[in-house]
Amino acid sequence: MEKVLVTGGTGYIGSHTCLALIADGKQPIIIDNLCNSKPIVLDRIETISGKRPVFYEGDIRDRALLDRIFEEHQIQSVIHFAALKAVGESTQVPLRYYQNNIAGTLNLLEAMQAHGVKSFIFSSSATVYGDPASVPITEEFPRSATNPYGRSKLMIEEICEDQLKAENDWSITLLRYFNPVGAHESGTMGEDPSGIPNNLMPYIAQVAIGRRDALSVFGNDYPTADGTGVRDYIHVMDLAEGHVKALNVCSAKQGLHVYNLGTGQGYSVLEMVKAFSDAAARPIPYQIEPRRPGDIAEYWANPAKAERELDWKASRTLSQMTADSWRWQSQNPMGYEE
Ligand code: NAD
Ligand code: UDP
Repeated sequence: MEKVLVTGGTGYIGSHTCLALIADGKQPIIIDNLCNSKPIVLDRIETISGKRPVFYEGDIRDRALLDRIFEEHQIQSVIHFAALKAVGESTQVPLRYYQNNIAGTLNLLEAMQAHGVKSFIFSSSATVYGDPASVPITEEFPRSATNPYGRSKLMIEEICEDQLKAENDWSITLLRYFNPVGAHESGTMGEDPSGIPNNLMPYIAQVAIGRRDALSVFGNDYPTADGTGVRDYIHVMDLAEGHVKALNVCSAKQGLHVYNLGTGQGYSVLEMVKAFSDAAARPIPYQIEPRRPGDIAEYWANPAKAERELDWKASRTLSQMTADSWRWQSQNPMGYEE
């Protein structure tokens, strides 16, 4: 059975990707330091799939631990989710972000090199497109970054490119996610942000369940149809399946592979509020607030390359995203906390 090391595998996207890997007959081996996730996720993966991933609690910056994992398992590929991801926080503690994301990735790549593992899939982000000149965004658009989090993604993309120039028998895939939302359809796995959610969908979900009073809508004076920001929201299980497709297609192909993972369809903040309100059959109170610094009016993907080359296309609709997110939130009002 093909063994895949999944860094950050108990996190939001990693845990759903473990399900997709298991469904495809692969064995995920997880390393996660639990700085933003809980071990109960392993129970949920086991309940849903009937398989419990091997789990190493630890940090990707711990080289001895990585060496042990590569020695104990014949790992064929690495999917690298482990990172700190809060944009605002990254401007407050940039060194912590660079240390975790950049140093962590370097350590991981060096350990792969030492153990002859040459297939790498990296969680990049649409944030590497900065403020795009137009939409939809294709993979060839110029890249830029406006905050340490985004810069860490951009730097890692460049590190991967340099590594491939030096050792062209590696296969490196950069997956640029748009806005992952939703939850596993069972309602037992989903997004569980610690503290006040930064992102729109978990914030709306917590308003719907009564943990927060009202959503702040950050700006209604953007040049969009209703004035609120527009994003390309993608169901986390579609995203997870995209990783499996990328693994199956790219891991045997040497070189650099870059794909947008999005739906190609943009929705505004108010459209998201309406869709969630319909799913939860309750009003979502909100108030209009000033724009959030650094926010971009609108962006969405051109996902044609992934469809063409990976035979992958997001298939779940906005109403599935909101219904699954609500099922998770309503069955687990406090997330993974008992
Ligand atoms: P998450 O925080 O839920 O998952 C990340 C996991 O990595 C967590 O379980 C955390 O405990 C672990 N981790 C962090 N640093 C670690 C370290 N040094 N060693 C070991 N484990 C560590 O985040 P997510 O939403 O699942 O995101 C996964 C990846 O996708 C990240 O790289 C993120 O930057 C990227 N991404 C996320 C989004 C999004 O909106 N969620 C969008 C684009 C890209
Ligand atoms: N947003 C909002 N209120 C919130 C969180 C987000 O109005 O509490 C808006 C934000 O301005 C953006 C959209 O929702 O237009 C998506 O924001 P999110 O932080 O989820 O993703 P990102 O900005 O990283 O694409």
